[in-house]
Amino acid sequence: MLETMKKSNTLGALPVTVLGSTGSVGRQTMDVAALHGLRVEGIAGSKNIALLEEQIRRFHPMWCAVEDETAAGQLAVAVADTDTKVLPGREGVLWLASAGESRTVLNSIIGTAGLAPTLEAIRAGKNVALANKETLVTAGEFVMREAREHGVSVLPVDSEHCAIFQCLNGEPRDRVKKLLLTCSGGAFRGKKRDELVHVTRREALAHPTWKMGAKITVDCASLMNKGLELIEAVRLFDVAPDDVEIVVHPESIIHSMVQFCDNAVMAQLSVPDMRLCIQYALTYPDRMPSCLEPLDFKTVGRLTFDVPDEETFTLLPLARRCVKAGGVMTAVLNGANEAAVAAFLDDRIGFVELFDLVESVVDDAVQIDRPTLSDIEEADRAAREAVMRRLTH
Ligand code: MG
Repeated sequence: MLETMKKSNTLGALPVTVLGSTGSVGRQTMDVAALHGLRVEGIAGSKNIALLEEQIRRFHPMWCAVEDETAAGQLAVAVADTDTKVLPGREGVLWLASAGESRTVLNSIIGTAGLAPTLEAIRAGKNVALANKETLVTAGEFVMREAREHGVSVLPVDSEHCAIFQCLNGEPRDRVKKLLLTCSGGAFRGKKRDELVHVTRREALAHPTWKMGAKITVDCASLMNKGLELIEAVRLFDVAPDDVEIVVHPESIIHSMVQFCDNAVMAQLSVPDMRLCIQYALTYPDRMPSCLEPLDFKTVGRLTFDVPDEETFTLLPLARRCVKAGGVMTAVLNGANEAAVAAFLDDRIGFVELFDLVESVVDDAVQIDRPTLSDIEEADRAAREAVMRRLTH
């Protein structure tokens, strides 16, 4: 598959399918597609039918899947004059993931709903440009095994993993000593637990560097995002949890680093812009001009580094504990966190309660050492239910 991709140096020749095209990463993927005249074969989106209609009229995809059936019906009427076929429901999304000529499916569907489409795409022999970290967190061993068996690549779209992927390029894995995962520190860097008790939803949603959806922005503020990324790195790059070090780097200019056996460190730097990661995943192993501003060291100023405060931000060590435990524990962690973040965004719990709630659900969860996919789904469901039970008590 990589050989075929290597031969092609024009993006237009590589049709892509974009799952989650109306979200933050999805919209930026469409920007990259527009910049390079990329053929978008299929899109899948949420209830934002106005934006889906706009994307259909601009990119002329063959298919547009809409999970919400009512929204799908409305969209079908709105775009009846186009050649795009609207595919309703969950089946529509799953069908689209494996359909057509696209060699790469970019998946930025939010949450565990992204897992099944990822597996569909892999089983159809497609590379997956993965912006959905839950897929790797909950069922990473499964996904990577399937990808190996089908001879396809999982290309990270998360900025840190894209950076590591670039730093690793061509180096044998046994020469790698450590992955250095950088972390902006989130909206509450430097704050202690007692200062976080009265944090509001609005404060948690103000991220210093990246503009993203609400769930991931809360995860950035709680450092759970870095915990999930740690798990993601372990799965993607097949390294031990203790060989992933978190480095707080508030400027977000270095997107992550790799330390090799000779203690040489490779880092990837650029202005923070997801479109670079999206484009690299779509053009790999080639590089193409991008819409990014070049990094200007005359204005960059100081780059600073620190260690994360794991005593305050307890979800980060909890994530390390879960990936070490393996089995279903990362699925439990992720499911509990998704439910707890939703409760925080609903003003049902405070910010610190969010940490404690997730930890207590993990502590009470039942481990299964060699889980099947349905064990993982069940653990995820049980973790969400455990959050709900604790909320109503
Ligand atoms: Mg990231």
